[in-house]
Formats: sequence, structure tokens, C-alpha cells
Amino acid sequence: MKTIIANWKMYLGVRESVALSRGVLRGLRGMKTIPEVILAPSYPALGEVSKILSRSRVRLSAQNMSHQDHGAYTGDVSSRMLKELGVNAVILGHSERRAKGMVDSDVHLKLVRAVAEGIDPIVCVGEPSATHEAGETEGYVHEQINTIFEGVETNKRSTIYVAYEPLWAIGSGKTPSIHDVETVHAMIREQLSELGIDKVSVLYGGSVDPENAYEFLNNSEVDGVLIGGAGVRIQKLLDIITVASEIKA
Ligand code: PEP
Repeated sequence: MKTIIANWKMYLGVRESVALSRGVLRGLRGMKTIPEVILAPSYPALGEVSKILSRSRVRLSAQNMSHQDHGAYTGDVSSRMLKELGVNAVILGHSERRAKGMVDSDVHLKLVRAVAEGIDPIVCVGEPSATHEAGETEGYVHEQINTIFEGVETNKRSTIYVAYEPLWAIGSGKTPSIHDVETVHAMIREQLSELGIDKVSVLYGGSVDPENAYEFLNNSEVDGVLIGGAGVRIQKLLDIITVASEIKA
């Protein structure tokens, strides 16, 4: 089964997130095979969206999380707070958080917390444009995976999602070749397996839309896609989910 994750970023408020979640559930009703769908609204919308998704198989993700348990951390949100709202997955290390100073060692700490709390981590990695142009993508992503995952003990309950999102592909309309995606995904899988992490789902993210979704989703190295811009438009999101539903994993 393929996985579709929609990251709604800071695009939608509570009412819009509720409306879009309802639209997704309505759209799924008509599908024969339903892929795994994970919606990641903004923090303020999590509670209301959680109520809507509660009797469905659609999962709820946050877009970030503190690695601290609790305490004087103004503006942060803990794993316990997310769990209270019915959140069961969390995006960690998205490039838009990294642009504000988050580094791989922070992502490592968040990952440890998420796994300990039974929240499935969606760990984002990916190279900047200059690294891509210099042909150094694999070395860069290898290093990221090492720093983030080394010493992390996973358990049977957790699925680890890794989203390979080249920074230059996010929101740009540009995408890497399917061959490059395949190569990086295979490397990530092998590296995690060497670290003892086998229950892993490797996703591609960066300018996925209904037109290019098939090429990515139809590749056996691609377990699913993480989408940003196209994920806040109901028809585009449902079109991508439909593509995933028609592919035999
Ligand atoms: C993202 O924000 O993770 C993303 C993949 O965005 P977009 O689909 O808009 O490139």
C-alpha cells in the first residue's frame, strides 16, 4: 500500500482544514482500494481535524514537535500534547524548519522522543541545490541519515517514514529524475537496515502533482509521496490519492 502525506504547512486555518478533511473523507468513499493517507494540518487545527478523522483510517500528523518532555519552553508543543489530540505521526526536520535553524542533531532528539512516545516519525532529508549540482547528493543524504538515526532504537509498534525531499524541488515545480530518486531511496533503505531499522517507508517529496505522481508512485523504491502545495487543493489531493489507489504496491 502506498502512502500519501499532505503537509498543509501554514496555509489553512481551522475552518479550512476541517472543510478539506471532510472533502478528503468524501473523496475516499468512492475508491475501491484506499492507500494510507496522512494529513498534517497546522497545530491549531489538529483538535478539530482529529474529531473528523476519528472514525476513519486517515491518520493525523503534526508538522513539528519538541524533543522536551514538558517545562518552560514557550511556543513549543510536546509529544504528550499531540497524543492528547489523537495525533499519531509527526513531520520532523522539514526544510522549512531547518531554514529557521533546526539541524540534524535536533531532528535526532525529536526522533528519539517520537519513537519513545509511539508517534510515527516522518523524517525529512534532502540536499540543497549546490550539492545536487556538484553530484554530491548521496554523500550528503548519507551523512544526514547517520546523524539522525545512529543509536536510535526503534520498536515494532513504530513505522519510520523517511521523506527524501531535495530542497531545490520543494515548491519550485522542479523534480529530480526518477532514476535519482530510486538511487537515493535504495541507499536510505540499505543504510537504515544496517542500523537495524527495517520497518521503514521511504517517500519522495518535492513538487509532486497529479501529472507527475504516477511516475514516482509506480516505482517500487517509492513507498509514497509527501505533498505540500498540491495537498491543499482538494481535487489535486484526491487525484494523487486516486493514482496511489490504482497502483499495486
Ligand atoms: C513539502 O513542503 O514538503 C513539499 C513537498 O512541498 P511541495 O509539494 O509544495 O513541493
